[in-house]
Amino acid sequence: MTTWRSFISAALVCMAFKAATAQPGDDLRCKIEEVSLALGVKIVVNESVPDSWGAVSYGPNADEGEVIRYLELLHHEFTKYPEGYLKQSRADAIILVQNLTFCEQPRAAIPDPYKKQLFLSINGAFRIASSRYLAHVMHHELHHLTEYSMWKNMTFDWHEWILLNGDGFCYGKGGAEAYADYMANGTDFYTPDNPQQGFINRYSLTGDEEDRAELMAFLMTDYERPVIAKLLKKDLILREKSKLLTRLLQDFRRPSIQFPGSIRTD
Ligand SMILES: [Zn+2]
Repeated sequence: MTTWRSFISAALVCMAFKAATAQPGDDLRCKIEEVSLALGVKIVVNESVPDSWGAVSYGPNADEGEVIRYLELLHHEFTKYPEGYLKQSRADAIILVQNLTFCEQPRAAIPDPYKKQLFLSINGAFRIASSRYLAHVMHHELHHLTEYSMWKNMTFDWHEWILLNGDGFCYGKGGAEAYADYMANGTDFYTPDNPQQGFINRYSLTGDEEDRAELMAFLMTDYERPVIAKLLKKDLILREKSKLLTRLLQDFRRPSIQFPGSIRTD
């Protein structure tokens, strides 16, 4: 978390800068500095940044006000994690863009653990850009980076987790296929309709890494937390998964992350 000293020093730097230049863009520059200090990571806006695959592309940034609003949301969501968590998760740099794609497929975010960076699309994807969706995406994608930091693999098959689903269950072919299905058929992957015991939504069925990233996103976002709280009450497998996720995060970092709000997973 941010210390007051960081906030004050950011404010002083920005006030000095404003006084010296008073050019358009100062508000954005100051907000970037403030959020960057608060999160302890580099935030990149309006810059072309190489990715690990040569497959990521995006358009020029949106207007300044939109980026500032996004930064405020990012600040709110990512300061829920303990100090140092983002860097430990290899999110050393957060790159804000719009109209993000991977191999021309629209994406709301792309975690790039090899270069220790996270691309976030400030206008979401598929014309979905509500704050609720954008916040969900932030936590979901950060969790992919966290798992890479633990296992050096973003699609690790965690057997202890998979066993909770019971005999005969098989996950799908991962998130990329769900994106293709959504684009081709408009399949609803995201409504938390608990399609079967142990799963929040259809996206959770696509892979065990997506299952955990979805659960993490629902636990961490303010709007979605009441939904998962209800599901946890009635779904034993989901409760067991929450306990396992909590243990995973405890192993990753001490003191462990505390899920915000009133949710208890033990
Ligand atoms: Zn994912």
